[in-house]
Amino acid sequence: MRFRFHGRGGQGIKTAGRILGKAAFFEGLFAQDFAIYGAERRGAPITAFVRLSDAPILERGHIFNPSYVLVAAPSLLFDPTVKTLEGMVEGAVLFVNSSREIPILQPKKVHMIFRDVTGLALKYVGKDILSAAMGAVACKLSGTISLQSTVDSVGEELADLGLEPDMIEKNIQLAKECYLCVESVGLSGLSYKPSHKVVEVQYLGEKGIPDLLSVGNTAFRKTGSWRVFTPIIDRNLCTACGICYVYCPESCVSLDEQGYPAVDYDNCKGCLVCAIECPRKAIKTGRESAWS
Ligand code: SF4
Ligand code: SF4
Repeated sequence: MRFRFHGRGGQGIKTAGRILGKAAFFEGLFAQDFAIYGAERRGAPITAFVRLSDAPILERGHIFNPSYVLVAAPSLLFDPTVKTLEGMVEGAVLFVNSSREIPILQPKKVHMIFRDVTGLALKYVGKDILSAAMGAVACKLSGTISLQSTVDSVGEELADLGLEPDMIEKNIQLAKECYLCVESVGLSGLSYKPSHKVVEVQYLGEKGIPDLLSVGNTAFRKTGSWRVFTPIIDRNLCTACGICYVYCPESCVSLDEQGYPAVDYDNCKGCLVCAIECPRKAIKTGRESAWS
């Protein structure tokens, strides 16, 4: 079984993969899990990969033909640079963290499941951190991992990360509900068979390294689609101190002539640093409505 998780930096996607891998290990399976981070930036797309098998796993590298794709941030489905659906084969399973069905153009027949695990994470842990939620969903979908192994894995992985016991317990409750919110999906109809081909990787030398000659080109990457939460400034409470302007890591807060801030929502990625730093608590936060 090959799993590919797509999410955003800060959602706990790498840990979701680790939870799945360790839970499978508890079941006596062979497991491989790893992640790639790209820009190493909160909100930036990240991908995690997990392979499970009852025999030693000889494949290495990225998973190009996943049997399961789990998408934690639905906006990634429409990001042409991420290619969430790439390589899905007929009979594969697509799980999307959304309470609504999202029309997805998919040339092959895949099994689509939509559930709002962010809503469950907010209920149990109060944050959009989805490691336990997405890990538990993947465990259940696999059809081979018990609830007990899932819970044990969540407990161990989050303890390794240094979480306090009460937060681990909340995540375990979240994992249990997420495990129960989906059904296992068998993969008997999958058309992809592993080839275990040895592929020669060509060394590209200098040609493999892109030249970034134009400065300030991040302005062209609209990061507004990364948001799960939206900062909303309350002018009645704001004293125009400018602290949000200074702290915003994306430089997307501007000040008007009187010094009052405004957010550029095309580029605000919803990290909420501004809301945390505002001394007047003048920045409220609301969940983005597009996917909830
Ligand atoms: S930090 Fe708060 S009070 Fe200061 S300018 Fe920003 S919104 Fe207004
Ligand atoms: S405006 Fe606030 S939420 Fe948006 S990117 Fe800047 S600090 Fe983060």
